[in-house]
Amino acid sequence: MSLPVFGNYIDGAWIASGPTFENRNPANVDDIAGLFVRGSAADVEAAAGAAAAALPTWAAMPAPARGNILYKAIDILENRFETLAAEMTREEGKTLPESRGEVRRSINIFRYYAAEGARLAGMLAPSERERVHTFAVRKPIGVVALITPWNFPSAIPAWKLAPALICGNTVVLKPASAAPLSAWRLVEALHEAGIPKGVVNYIAGPGGALGGALVGASPVRAVSFTGSCEVGNRLHEEASRRRLRIQLEMGGKNATIVLEDADFKSAVENVVNGAFFSTGQKCTATSRAIVEDGVYDRFLEALVERTKRLRVGDGSQAGVEIGPCVDDARIQAVLDYIEIGRKEAGEPRVGGFRLSGGAYDKGYFLAPTVFADVTESMTIAQEEIFGPVLAVMRARDFDDAMRLANCVPFGLSASIQTTNVSRVFEYINRMEAGLLTVNLPSAGVEYQLPFGGTKDSSFGPKEQGQAALEFYSDFKTVYLRY
Ligand code: NAP
Repeated sequence: MSLPVFGNYIDGAWIASGPTFENRNPANVDDIAGLFVRGSAADVEAAAGAAAAALPTWAAMPAPARGNILYKAIDILENRFETLAAEMTREEGKTLPESRGEVRRSINIFRYYAAEGARLAGMLAPSERERVHTFAVRKPIGVVALITPWNFPSAIPAWKLAPALICGNTVVLKPASAAPLSAWRLVEALHEAGIPKGVVNYIAGPGGALGGALVGASPVRAVSFTGSCEVGNRLHEEASRRRLRIQLEMGGKNATIVLEDADFKSAVENVVNGAFFSTGQKCTATSRAIVEDGVYDRFLEALVERTKRLRVGDGSQAGVEIGPCVDDARIQAVLDYIEIGRKEAGEPRVGGFRLSGGAYDKGYFLAPTVFADVTESMTIAQEEIFGPVLAVMRARDFDDAMRLANCVPFGLSASIQTTNVSRVFEYINRMEAGLLTVNLPSAGVEYQLPFGGTKDSSFGPKEQGQAALEFYSDFKTVYLRY
């Protein structure tokens, strides 16, 4: 049977010719979801040119009318809901319930920003002068390059596309090569909803080759990137040379602090959820559990027992809780960290190996892994691993837990498990991270609030909620004598 070919989308047309790359199912590498056309620097140039040509008309369209196109796309996505979720599991590996949650989130994001079309408030302030009226209106920035990772292959493109479009920008989207289909479906929905040609462009292909072309394309005025620190830092240098507006959301080394007074059972569940769900491949995943001395041994024992019971497998199967790693490079990188962890902290208390035998041999499955007695200078306490690996660390008391939680270069998300309200407020004040949870897992954020980190995790304005409008629009200030 011939495989479907998914073309690039440039100036309102699907370009389905040229060399391709495969989109494989990480739970079963014999299963290929489709072939994607490998874009080139010339495609990027054409897409940026089309976006520039489409800009004046799109920017001049009333924002509620732009919103109406997003509403139409929502209807299309709703009608395909189950297919989109199944495809996401097939290309990325997350479990079907996780994929359903992500498709729902993308739809909700589109709805939230579609409604912004009727708001997009500017500013009004009284002038110091008589008979002078002053106000500021929002204007688009221009052509925006969107570069997205594979771990939320629909939600991240959605939370960049929707605010960019509602503000009147035109875009070139480059999705991750490991999972390009979910973003392709969003673009397909926008196409079917009647978005004018050139407003949205989609180019799949290797980031190394396309990234430079995107940041260097003369019509591009802004770049929104989510991915690794290494790539983000490189993009930042290139974008700075052209004085482009840039937003970077990158890695994390997120801590969950467990205090002695926590609700014990829910603390265990929250750490397991934060560390292992989505196979630990969330930027907001818990990668360190920092546990107060008095509850450390009991907590570690319960955590290990719960981790042993996690069901790892093909995410399309009912009852599976943890899917595979996304590809061979990712599982190898995580296995390398596990070896480092063995040398630093000794044998993991659970996991620490690739699962094999039967259906496991077809995919990239790892046993969820817990290292105990990890100390702050160890590599596994400092570097992002981005897989189902948790470092458990002992804290003398609350102050020591806060010190340990902040002793990394990252500052994306954090969590605390406690029933002490004073500790909660101290943690909110002192924790160096952009996303804080209390008595919840460190992951699991919502679209209507600002999203992003501090320190090495992020750069530039926050994403999502009203905050996204600050990145995707500019103010034009008017002084008017009447
Ligand atoms: P990545 O390797 O940095 O890739 C991200 C995107 O950048 C992909 O589209 C990739 O294309 C592209 N890219 C690669 N090299 C490039 C270059 N030289 N110039 C321009 N673009 C380039 O990251 P990933 O492995 O996909 O995602 C995992 C990372 O993302 C983790 O560090 C995670 O913490 C982070 N993340 C952060 C957030 C957040 O909001 N803070 C959310 C999710 C993920 P290819 O796929 O073709 O290589």
